[in-house]
Amino acid sequence: TKPLHIIGAGMAGSEAAWQAVSAGIPVVLHEMRPHIGTFAHQTGNFAEMVCSNSFRSDDDEQNAVGLLHWEMRAAQGLVITSADRHALPAGSALGIDREPFSEWITAQLRNHPLVTVSEGEITALPKPEDGLAIIATGPLTSGALAEAIAAETGAEALAFFDAIAPIVHADTVDMSVAWMQSRYDKGETEEERTAYMNCPMNRAQYEAFIDALLEAEKTEFREGETAKYFDGCLPIEVMAERGRETLRHGPMKPIGLTNAHKPDEKAYAVVQLRRDNKLGTLYNIVGFQTKMKYGAQASVFRMIPGLENAQFARLGGIHRNTFLNSPTLLDAEMRLKSRPHIRFAGQITGVEGYVESTAMGLLAGRLAVAELRGERLPPVPETTAMGALVTHITGGAEAKTFQPMNVNFGLFPPVEAKGGRRGRKDRYKAYTDRAKEDWQAWLNSAAQPVEPA
Ligand code: FAD
Repeated sequence: TKPLHIIGAGMAGSEAAWQAVSAGIPVVLHEMRPHIGTFAHQTGNFAEMVCSNSFRSDDDEQNAVGLLHWEMRAAQGLVITSADRHALPAGSALGIDREPFSEWITAQLRNHPLVTVSEGEITALPKPEDGLAIIATGPLTSGALAEAIAAETGAEALAFFDAIAPIVHADTVDMSVAWMQSRYDKGETEEERTAYMNCPMNRAQYEAFIDALLEAEKTEFREGETAKYFDGCLPIEVMAERGRETLRHGPMKPIGLTNAHKPDEKAYAVVQLRRDNKLGTLYNIVGFQTKMKYGAQASVFRMIPGLENAQFARLGGIHRNTFLNSPTLLDAEMRLKSRPHIRFAGQITGVEGYVESTAMGLLAGRLAVAELRGERLPPVPETTAMGALVTHITGGAEAKTFQPMNVNFGLFPPVEAKGGRRGRKDRYKAYTDRAKEDWQAWLNSAAQPVEPA
């Protein structure tokens, strides 16, 4: 058999390689570091943690990231095994001793008889005659390869910066204050009519909100991360800095909207939230991409009438981040529709974070193995954290406004309410119980790779 080519030995590429060689499939792992670096990586090690040393919450009953840890442990993941072996005390989070973590992963792969490491930058798309390939080159994919990808996908389908507006769980918006309506009542279908939620502000509320935006603590771009804002995705606080009225004439304009609760009252400004997934469980705050610090964001955004008790599925951000418009480009098995011998994995698919990127590497590796063996796996259940994420990026998310996503329970099909509405703790436990059972069943339907030594 031809080896599986994996480009990029970061979180996703390392995990994909491990899944493949554990199933007996030879891998050529291409990595450009240390010969060519990025502004964030410091070493030549595989799976380097470029910033924080945390895999976030390890609670696999109440937290979707913790559940992803559980699912990767159940699949004998290399990266999660290293995280566990090099865990540092960090309360309920999985803190990691970053250097030995990466060194151990590097050694496991370099010493594996089925792994060939090929050092150097890949600058062109893999050819079909070389067999199946996985591109896992991450948020800082090298320029030459990014150009080759963009030539295939079209430049508008490959982004170099994200512009993430905060996303709220729809069921935490106070609908006695907010209402559903699209501007000028555009839209015929039920889906179009429920595309927007609106939160009204009077003048005093608007002025207080602008003050809070201006005062909030912001994060800076890192050295080497060229700060570049594009028209149409300026941070909300930068717009506010340009003039106190800018937002009221921009993303917060009140025109074409009538408050369903108080039809006679004209709002001074309106914050719109747009449906973010097909399930309708998540809504993003339109135009509210921001570089405010996370701590500041929740308190500033909860000043918006109707969002006082909002729970955020993710907070906003703007980072240097190379990612695909996966909902239009990838099939459900993460293959490039136009060149199905190529899979993408990791952050370049539009997930965000070490854990999510690793998870998408694990899945891509397993799916490639099955394809090479001529096996057909059942679809990854949407009820699992893996399945919820991959379903979101490859089809569940709105393609037009697609931005990178962290795993969260808003991506899961809602759990059936047994005997009325459940409390949050109960609901999260029901999500994780269901996921564990379904993930184990999916794994049992595929061949098991061996446990890392
Ligand atoms: P990476 O881990 O980046 O791996 C990609 C690999 O591909 C790299 O080794 C790279 O050298 C290689 N490569 C790139 N182009 C080529 C090429 N043409 N040929 C060969 N090899 C190539 N996530 C968190 O969870 N917490 C954080 O605190 C955090 N902070 C971040 C800070 C910064 C500045 C950045 C950029 C990202 C941060 N992330 C963070 C996101 C994190 O980088 C990713 O979630 C994760 O590392 C992505 O995994 P990946 O495998 O997709 O990419």
